[in-house]
Amino acid sequence: MAFEGLTTRLQNVFGKLRGKGKISEDDVNDAMREVRLALLEADVNFKVVKDFIGKVKEKALGKEVTESFTPGMVIIDIVNKELTELMGGTQSKLNKNNRPPTVIMMAGLQGAGKTTTTGKLAKMLQKQGNRPLLIAGDIYRPAAIKQLQVLGEQLNVPVFSLGDQVSPVEIARQGLQEAKDKGHDYVIIDTAGRLHIDEQLMEELKQIHTETKPDEVLLVVDAMTGQDAVNVAASFNEQLSLTGVVLTKLDGDTRGGAALSVKAVTGCPIKFISLGEKLDALEPFHPERMASRILG
Ligand code: GDP
Repeated sequence: MAFEGLTTRLQNVFGKLRGKGKISEDDVNDAMREVRLALLEADVNFKVVKDFIGKVKEKALGKEVTESFTPGMVIIDIVNKELTELMGGTQSKLNKNNRPPTVIMMAGLQGAGKTTTTGKLAKMLQKQGNRPLLIAGDIYRPAAIKQLQVLGEQLNVPVFSLGDQVSPVEIARQGLQEAKDKGHDYVIIDTAGRLHIDEQLMEELKQIHTETKPDEVLLVVDAMTGQDAVNVAASFNEQLSLTGVVLTKLDGDTRGGAALSVKAVTGCPIKFISLGEKLDALEPFHPERMASRILG
């Protein structure tokens, strides 16, 4: 399960503190050294760890802790709050256009889970009473269009496709028009992913962005890839102004680094997490719940 290593290590650190009636500066320093190592081992970005420890330490050495009868508990509470802040503080909801359709553009590297997330998001929106239209804009990966069509059939959500011989920009343009003509309130554009970020991919995504003016640009990243996921998010964000990140494969044994670093490194909030291959495995991301889960 995700974060298992991190949770166990943090529990060990806090277990030692919990038993103490009084806490010295040395106790705090020792504990923070261990928390620092635990976070680095969980593949959290180096600079993020440094800032985080700095903030926790500053608060933990304050009066509130040293004068408390349960100093261990106060420190755990500080760590919990700072972890929550690190992941964005409060839940970041999907943007919505007052004049429908709301346009959601999906981006990500191949294999991150972009197409399946498109289906999951469509299901979530449909459940909330909306009428999404999916646009099949990934014309390069063999079977990507078919995959989206199969998802659409399962969900009874229409999929707009012009095959793989028309440019994705044109597909997006015509798909958006179709959504307007048919009164869809949401449009989700599945775009091409490559194995690596390349200029051609970015150029195409920028053109789709210019053409459709999306309200939401969601980057799908694979949590299992740790710091790579964060680096991918940072590069996409520089070029495309992301509005949110979807972290997939949190059902695997990811160490947690991506979840804890993305917001701090890119400034871009995690909006959803995916915890499996099934269509209902997508959940809105709640920083405070994730922090509690990490602390175990
Ligand atoms: P794309 O190339 O980014 O469009 O990736 P796909 O949507 O085709 O997903 C790649 C693989 O990852 C598929 O086998 C998906 O079923 C799988 N996948 C996607 N999201 C998750 C997830 O949250 N958990 C797990 N375990 N597998 C996932």
